[in-house]
Amino acid sequence: MAGSKGQNANTSKTMQIKKYSIPESTLIYKPKAPFMAGVISTTELTEADSSDEVFNIILDVADSDIHYIEGQSIGIIPPGERETGKPHKARLYSIASARTGDDGTSTTATICVKRVFRKDEVTGTTIPGIASNYLCDLKPGDSVALIGPNGRRFLLPEDDSIDLILIAVGTGIAPFRAFIRHIFLEKGYWNGRIRLFYGIKNAMEALFLNNRNDDIGQYMTRETFEAFRALSRVHNEDSEKGYVQHKLAEHKQEVWEIICAGNFAVYICGLKGMEEGVDEVFSTLARQQELDWPTMKAEFIKNGQWNLEVY
Ligand SMILES: Cc1cc2nc3c(=O)[nH]c(=O)nc-3n(C[C@H](O)[C@H](O)[C@H](O)COP(=O)(O)OP(=O)(O)OC[C@H]3O[C@@H](n4cnc5c(N)ncnc54)[C@H](O)[C@@H]3O)c2cc1C
Repeated sequence: MAGSKGQNANTSKTMQIKKYSIPESTLIYKPKAPFMAGVISTTELTEADSSDEVFNIILDVADSDIHYIEGQSIGIIPPGERETGKPHKARLYSIASARTGDDGTSTTATICVKRVFRKDEVTGTTIPGIASNYLCDLKPGDSVALIGPNGRRFLLPEDDSIDLILIAVGTGIAPFRAFIRHIFLEKGYWNGRIRLFYGIKNAMEALFLNNRNDDIGQYMTRETFEAFRALSRVHNEDSEKGYVQHKLAEHKQEVWEIICAGNFAVYICGLKGMEEGVDEVFSTLARQQELDWPTMKAEFIKNGQWNLEVY
């Protein structure tokens, strides 16, 4: 089954995906003329004892011309200047809300931001990330310089019979929360299978899939949707242990069947470097069928079936 169908991806069969169209041009607000968005709320998404902090920030875009769709991102320009005296550069954040916003009024945009610290390579000191710490410290009533919306490719297919494989680590879950809310809340259903593979350190940091916020988990009762968490820092007999690629490998039979059937779209989002492990899983599966994964993947990319957003 898998072998014969899988060869299609290596030959002439193409399955060009038609994605949702963006309502209007992107980058309506540019760095020289950003939109000042009010902060409606900021809520911590990670549980109390987590080592990381991630905040859900709801922004008011009612007075703007922003009409985003799921999978797009917005840019935030932190206040202040760089050492050079120039303004800070914008940082991009995936929009975590579906098009009507979290309150259904089409006047808000939600982002989820991890408080980032980086190590100075020379001195070894820990330096707080400028934009993420600024955003995580915001309070309701503050305003934020916003640009965008950005992104024309990381979008859902129009055809809801298409099987979706969503692969995320950390804050890479943000666009998938938007996908899931659009599918089950705004649209109501998805006929194809949706399989979400999510890698995080522990259950407390499983954004939108933990005790503090179960926005994604609540839809797991839907017939077509299943979500699998991989917990990389759990030191016990927890069956969820491992990295996202291990969880993917655990479900290789279904995943490969979806790929070989050809009617699919894969989306990968999160930290740079995650693609390597994911690629290895597919590469191994292809090799077992004597197929060439790089050739297959190149065709999938061309078709819009392989979508990557890493940072
Ligand atoms: C398309 C796109 C979508 C993005 N979506 C999100 C999002 O939804 N949520 C989010 O928190 N960030 C997201 N980012 C990252 C974001 O743009 C910033 O890079 C991040 O907030 C760090 O900015 P900073 O000014 O605080 O840190 P800087 O002082 O610029 O330092 C950046 C350092 O932090 C690392 N880093 C960046 N983001 C993360 C992260 N989430 N977890 C761990 N380490 C990280 C980088 O690898 C780098 O080493 C996205 C980036 C892109 C390109």
